Amino acid sequence: MLLKDKTAVVTGSSRGIGKAIALRFAAEGAKLAVACVRNLDKAEAVAQEIRDSGGEAITVQADVSARGDAERMVAEATQAFGRIDIMVSNAGIVIDRAFVDSTDDDWHAAIETNLRGFFNVTRAVLPQMIERGQGRIIATGSLITDVADLGQNRFSVCAASKGGIIALMRPIAAEVARHGVTVNAVSPGYIATEMLGEIDAGGLEQVLAMVPMRRYGKPEEIAAAMAFLASDDAAYITGQTLRVNGGIAMG
Ligand code: NDP
Repeated sequence: MLLKDKTAVVTGSSRGIGKAIALRFAAEGAKLAVACVRNLDKAEAVAQEIRDSGGEAITVQADVSARGDAERMVAEATQAFGRIDIMVSNAGIVIDRAFVDSTDDDWHAAIETNLRGFFNVTRAVLPQMIERGQGRIIATGSLITDVADLGQNRFSVCAASKGGIIALMRPIAAEVARHGVTVNAVSPGYIATEMLGEIDAGGLEQVLAMVPMRRYGKPEEIAAAMAFLASDDAAYITGQTLRVNGGIAMG
């Protein structure tokens, strides 16, 4: 088991990629805080699935864009498990609109949820990791920071928020490396989740033709990369972005 007796918080794990990460981490022996903002019933179902398999899991409701919620989430998980070894900042939204049509609300939503969400949860959990001299922080990035021209070209605002995560992740990694904490990102390509349903279908057909593997990724394939980065095997890897995208951004 890669994560035996570790404790982990996975934001956005009520469904999609985060759910797959939570289930994989639990299968690898970790205790899980399954976190989300609206669909608490779905988060509870994920936690129950973990408990039914003999694991330990709690659910936490928190809006990652709100500093107080992020701090409470970390406090609740720490109280339940004694410490947090792994924080996966995965909660996110997609904005699918041409830049010229984008609104202040689009900008606010993408930056607050995606970028500030990473800022909030990382800042909330880092002190205890630094104090213990160990920890893993992993953010979910996106292929949209690697590939500007995806055919439909409607992700500029979202790319700014995800690019901000990658830009912020590296100097934090440098700052905390000497304290035994690693900070990395996994950047998914197009992964078959509910989020794909929010993207224009015509655009998606074009995109698949650009993916060398000619298929969407599975949430479990992102979870596998996350499990590796969260494990002791990845102790000497920090400040890196692991692209899991069927080859779409290999250049
Ligand atoms: P989904 O839309 O399926 O799930 C999003 C998750 O994020 C849900 O658990 C949702 O909670 C949670 N969430 C949304 N807003 C907030 C918030 N403000 N506070 C806390 N939680 C929140 O998305 P995916 O699983 O597809 O995506 C997961 C991550 O992967 C995102 O960061 C996304 O940007 C990234 N990604 C996804 C790609 C894809 O093709 N699917 C491609 C590239 C990146 P609730 O259920 O309560 O609403």
